[in-house]
Amino acid sequence: MKRAIFPGSFDPLTSGHHDIITRGVKLFDELIIAIGENSSKKYMFSLEERKQFIEASFPNDSKIKVVTYKGLTVDFCQENDVEFILRGLRNPADFEFEKAIAHTNRDLAPIETVFLLTAASTSYISSSIVREVILHDGDYTKLVPKSVRLKK
Ligand code: ADP
Repeated sequence: MKRAIFPGSFDPLTSGHHDIITRGVKLFDELIIAIGENSSKKYMFSLEERKQFIEASFPNDSKIKVVTYKGLTVDFCQENDVEFILRGLRNPADFEFEKAIAHTNRDLAPIETVFLLTAASTSYISSSIVREVILHDGDYTKLVPKSVRLKK
């Protein structure tokens, strides 16, 4: 069974994440979308809200699981029989950042990181830009899947 994890903060899920998940799930038997809990980070959306946005985006795909986790991604992988880490690459800055993490993870555990290039149409989107638009009451709906709607 080829099991992969797509780790991130997903604060909130964006159309860019959605694209990577939709394409990534075809490569594996199971894709675990794992929301990292980092107590030193301040989030706009609670863990439960971030989880619900993702679950509502992929309601009928039995290959996709959504979980939350604390600690090192490689530890989660080893505890849950996960062999692959899936990450998205938008630009050279992502590449440099991801390269360091992937090499470190390889030093820590025999887990392969698989990179997918983002779709051109979503490569400019980041959760931090979405949060900024939301904060200033802009129309964020073009940047996120339909499941990400704020209660007003
Ligand atoms: P992190 O806190 O780890 O940066 P994110 O939720 O921002 O978590 O991102 C998780 C993963 O999704 C990363 O691999 C990131 O490169 C990828 N990603 C983020 N935005 C996009 C996008 N617009 N298109 C494709 N992949 C993206």
